[in-house]
Amino acid sequence: MENYYIIDSHCDTLGKIADIGINVLQDGQSHVSIEGLKAGRVGLQFFAAWVGPKKYSPCLQKGLKLIDAYYTMLNSYPDLFLPVLNAADIDRARKQNKIGALLSVEGGDILEGEIANLRILYHLGVRSMTLTWNYRNELADGVLENKSNGGLSSFGHEVLKEMNRLGMLVDVSHISEKGFYDVIEASVKPIAATHSNAWSVHPHPRNLKDEQIKLLAIQNGVIGMNFYPPFLAGQEANLSHIIKHIDYIAGLAGIEVIGFGSDFDGIEKTPEDIRGPEDFYSIINELLKLNYKEEDIRKIAYGNYERLLNCVLGGC
Ligand SMILES: [Zn+2]
Repeated sequence: MENYYIIDSHCDTLGKIADIGINVLQDGQSHVSIEGLKAGRVGLQFFAAWVGPKKYSPCLQKGLKLIDAYYTMLNSYPDLFLPVLNAADIDRARKQNKIGALLSVEGGDILEGEIANLRILYHLGVRSMTLTWNYRNELADGVLENKSNGGLSSFGHEVLKEMNRLGMLVDVSHISEKGFYDVIEASVKPIAATHSNAWSVHPHPRNLKDEQIKLLAIQNGVIGMNFYPPFLAGQEANLSHIIKHIDYIAGLAGIEVIGFGSDFDGIEKTPEDIRGPEDFYSIINELLKLNYKEEDIRKIAYGNYERLLNCVLGGC
């Protein structure tokens, strides 16, 4: 199937670029490499600035360092990457045969409680933000705050409203269950769980319950399949486990809610037959073998995220 490309809604490669250097994209020290992105036909890659929990504070400073790594990457490969700042850039990247690079932030801790920082991040090119990591921050509780049953705070509501207004994708991976439902109720735009899987296939706290996936689908959102073995299946995983999550979610809530959110470079281990983006083609091939319709495979590979991003970045 030649007529497809990949949108991957999560990788942590900026951390490697910041820590080791831009050479990681070519010397095999990261999952995501220039050759891998090309070989895997990745047309749009989210690059996350992971600011971690508060103990790594100051979070804003850490985030800015990662945003600097993003710009280092763009400047080092001007002919390869095109920054995605609005919906038209998605098409532009495709037409120019470039890889769209969408800057995201993982962890609303980066705001340090100031809404002005959100607007500044928008001006710096951030177009998606994961509201929490695993723990509580000023916006909401994360998935590992399992005793508090806490949802979105007043500040979290303020941030959500401003993200909707600015045109930033709201990401609910890592947020507590209560927080998820609060966001679904309050958001006027569809949202994403950029790197999460199905809890019913593998009951890990980072995965989404059936009800959450159904609501995401109703609201035209997307869940990006995460390739981390402990979220897929346990200590070991392979391609078949990724397919299991896709199959299950397709049956539960429809093809239109499924995307890819590999988590490359944020995970110490990948499934045994997946090295990096170069192996996206093997997932596509497997779906073809299983008689998924080409039109549905294109939706999973890029169409669903394209629909979501066109809506959030372009207006809907
Ligand atoms: Zn994450």
